[in-house]
Amino acid sequence: MVCAVKNGIIVKVKTGDKGSAKGGQRGGGKKKASAHRILRAYGKRPRNAAGRAARVAEILRRLDQMYPGATCALTHGNPWELLVATILSAQCTDKRVNLVTPGLFAKYPTPADFAAVRPEALAQDIRSTGFFNNKAKSIVGAARRVVSAFGGAVPKTMEEMLTIPGAARKTANVVLGTAYGIAAGVVVDTHVSRIAQRLDLTQNTDAVKTEQDLIKIIPPEHWISFSHQIILHGRALCVARNPRCAECGLNDLCYAADKTV
Ligand code: SF4
Repeated sequence: MVCAVKNGIIVKVKTGDKGSAKGGQRGGGKKKASAHRILRAYGKRPRNAAGRAARVAEILRRLDQMYPGATCALTHGNPWELLVATILSAQCTDKRVNLVTPGLFAKYPTPADFAAVRPEALAQDIRSTGFFNNKAKSIVGAARRVVSAFGGAVPKTMEEMLTIPGAARKTANVVLGTAYGIAAGVVVDTHVSRIAQRLDLTQNTDAVKTEQDLIKIIPPEHWISFSHQIILHGRALCVARNPRCAECGLNDLCYAADKTV
């Protein structure tokens, strides 16, 4: 059994054919047999490019099974609201942000409303999310940029997103991926960084380098879902201390040094 997410609730589900050689390996008896041999060796580090690629494909297939329909937990009604919520979520739980944003968006319904407020005043509205002075400056700066440079609409390219105060690659990837369905990269937060290292998908600790490593080995059609799935996995099972490896559907594919089984 592993945890999956249905309608925003984590539930226990059967992992089904855990360890099977299906997924990404269909078609052709010879090919299937050779992939099966590769997959059987997963308890160990794959020795060649084909082994590494088959392992990544299997990880992605299992994540789809474990966390179907995984998406961003930040409540939002449009791309601008998601941008604000993502800025607020730094060093804060999504649950806390979701408590603050309904009142915030009722008080300031548009980017123009945020652009017109003084950061010191906004800081009091978002106080409970922590680091409120810096977050208020970022949000007001972002609103002014969105209004003055993009006509009040959050832009749809990474290049433009990175000109917005408070929006580094992580925030830009969250907004582009979730609000617009644009796969510009992979969201790398603390969960993705930790689990990508545990799964040996990167050896980097720097978020930008980790993202570059992930982009090279994960097909673009998985970039958006992979981030959401890994973030849920990091909250449910692959937690920072004492990961719950006995319940993990990736157990036989994982050779992390700090595994608990
Ligand atoms: S086996 Fe353990 S360390 Fe590896 S991904 Fe699963 S929970 Fe994380």
